[in-house]
Amino acid sequence: MARLIDAGPGCPTPTPARRVGHSETGGLTYTAEVKAETDHLYPLASDFITPMEWPAIAPLVAAINRLKAERNAVILAHNYMTPDIFRLVGDIRGDSLQLAREAAEVEADVIVQAGVHFMAETSKILAPEKTVLIPSLEAGCSLASSITGRDVALIKQRYPEFPVVTYVNTTADVKAECHITCTSSNAVQVVEAIARDWNTDTVILVPDQYLARNVASQTDIRIMTWPGACEVHELFSASDVEALRLAHSGVVILAHPECPPDVLEAADFAGSTAALAHYVRDHRPAKVVLLTECSMSDNVAAENPDVNFVRPCNLCPHMKQITLENIYDCLANMRHAVDLEEGVRQRAKAAIDAMLALPKMTAPLAFKTGLAARDITVISPA
Ligand code: SF4
Repeated sequence: MARLIDAGPGCPTPTPARRVGHSETGGLTYTAEVKAETDHLYPLASDFITPMEWPAIAPLVAAINRLKAERNAVILAHNYMTPDIFRLVGDIRGDSLQLAREAAEVEADVIVQAGVHFMAETSKILAPEKTVLIPSLEAGCSLASSITGRDVALIKQRYPEFPVVTYVNTTADVKAECHITCTSSNAVQVVEAIARDWNTDTVILVPDQYLARNVASQTDIRIMTWPGACEVHELFSASDVEALRLAHSGVVILAHPECPPDVLEAADFAGSTAALAHYVRDHRPAKVVLLTECSMSDNVAAENPDVNFVRPCNLCPHMKQITLENIYDCLANMRHAVDLEEGVRQRAKAAIDAMLALPKMTAPLAFKTGLAARDITVISPA
């Protein structure tokens, strides 16, 4: 069961001030110059950083912004980054699909991926001429590590008649073996499109069994999957939804499709991180809860100050490996550049291009809620 926190930021995300280490940041100090460079940024994060903490954080923010200009670098910040990163140094912000698209188009020599490793690989796949840096090599993902390219090759040997779709939360090796990628914004669209192309009623969708189960309840296509899961979203349960409704009368409950199907069945709305953010912006519910990673609620709340957020708190330990300190360090020292073997990169790019070639959606697709789960086949690892 997810750990439910009643209201307010309240989650155990390490605050920037507690993480700042003088020695790690080369003795950056809060000078009059730094103050002048950063005063205008403080209001963007004043909900999360107290005035007492700001002098410890502002020097890092100023140093990162100077390095970005020197290196012609941009920071791609995923929605699950803490607000100090997301709001103060992130240049392009969004979900993995938005960031991947921007990586290909942005005019910069260096991309710093404030996200996890598979996202940095995706940026490198789409922008091979750019230097892509990942601030921490520890920023993995339980979904990406649940499957390998060899696993997919064996699946294709076993089921050559069915197309294999991979969620973007996978390594370049896995993407290289799959026919097409998908995101949580377009998974249903991709599954239906490739089933039509292959003239089949069955599609294999890896590695997230919960995303696959949720897709299966939205389409007539038969889905087979892999026993992977997001260690953050799999913790939510239908009993959390029930407890939230009891504790917070009138709360509107939004769920990410990496949650188990009984969560989507009980929720009021479901969709990708982009769809959840759009829902709050467009509907402005009086009281809302986002069943997803902690920092997503913090970042959406900062953009919607009139909406009352109830915050269930499941942290992604991988996303939280990224800090202002290691962003500064990787830019200062050009550390942790992502490198891919060219054949793998090209085959992975073909799978991403197949997805990007589909008609562009005007908005991320919502998942219907209230639908009972369907039984689907989970392929056993060899
Ligand atoms: S939230 Fe889940 S899917 Fe996203 S990086 Fe963390 S473990 Fe992976």
